[in-house]
Amino acid sequence: MRAMLFERVGDPLRAVERDSPSPGPGELLIRVHACAVCRTDLHLLDGEVEIDEPPRILGHQIVGTVEAVGAPVEAPGAQVDAPGENASPAPAAIPGDRVGVPWLGWTDGTCAWCRSGRENLCPRARFTGRDIDGGYAEYTVADARFCFPIPHAYPDEQAAPLMCAGLIGYRALRLCGDARRIGLYGFGASAHILAQVCAAQGREAYAFTRAGDERTQAFARELGAVWAGASEERPPHELDAAIIFAPVGALVPLALAALAPAGTVVCGGIHMSDIPSFPYELLWQERVLRSVANLTRTDAREFLPLAPQVPVRTRVSAYPLERANEALDDLRQVRFTGSAVIVP
Ligand SMILES: [Zn+2]
Ligand SMILES: [Zn+2]
Repeated sequence: MRAMLFERVGDPLRAVERDSPSPGPGELLIRVHACAVCRTDLHLLDGEVEIDEPPRILGHQIVGTVEAVGAPVEAPGAQVDAPGENASPAPAAIPGDRVGVPWLGWTDGTCAWCRSGRENLCPRARFTGRDIDGGYAEYTVADARFCFPIPHAYPDEQAAPLMCAGLIGYRALRLCGDARRIGLYGFGASAHILAQVCAAQGREAYAFTRAGDERTQAFARELGAVWAGASEERPPHELDAAIIFAPVGALVPLALAALAPAGTVVCGGIHMSDIPSFPYELLWQERVLRSVANLTRTDAREFLPLAPQVPVRTRVSAYPLERANEALDDLRQVRFTGSAVIVP
């Protein structure tokens, strides 16, 4: 199969031909139809998030078709969902089924985090496209317990960004509770999905972009944001919550300053530059600053059926597999709105 391989920090991905993987017990062999690009991939390329065992195929927003199913898992209990993980197992996938594969690729199911419905924090978790080969390839294998049916309404390319931008965005939104006015700092793949969810839920989305990025601000308004402006601007109303997607620590005090009392700032990225010091007054009045890490399978089971009801419409720019480096560079340089998707 053709694949794009990460070899070392600082190098572009390399186009290679290698044998297609075979599914082990409990795994699915998936023919990849689309794999969306995530900012986390840039952090991996730059070494800000580490890949322990290179070389590695990146890509963790995979949509594809099941080609083969591995042997059933023999060990008793090995394929049981963790308690607290909403344990109704999805019907077993069969060849021909269309499935999505997210960032969370495996958890031990036995630690205190897994057993309390917080498998996103499992210390032994393995992540797709970091610890397990991902979707920048013609084929991939994935643990069947971490694959999800894709809503029929979505073509492959439009579905791919739901698998991380959508899922982790949705988890971040859930951490905002019943906040009505929500600031979205960094209007990329996640925010363009969340703006639509906010509008459907009767919330108001306020979009913050780099100063002067009028194209993205217009895009945000088009998707239902009630206001769009520069990150340094104060919105017309105090915000009940803010989600920071841009990996820029300097946004934290700006977002806190835009919050009403008791408001929450959620940092949505896996990596962020250092947060500058700020006066305690910005946190005072029961304001909350927190991060969101990874996802649980419950997030996927909630969000994927919700997306077509909103209905979330994703805007994607498609790139053939061999141009994955160009897609990554375009993400870095903010050359598109919405999400980039690799099509093998
Ligand atoms: Zn991601
Ligand atoms: Zn665990």
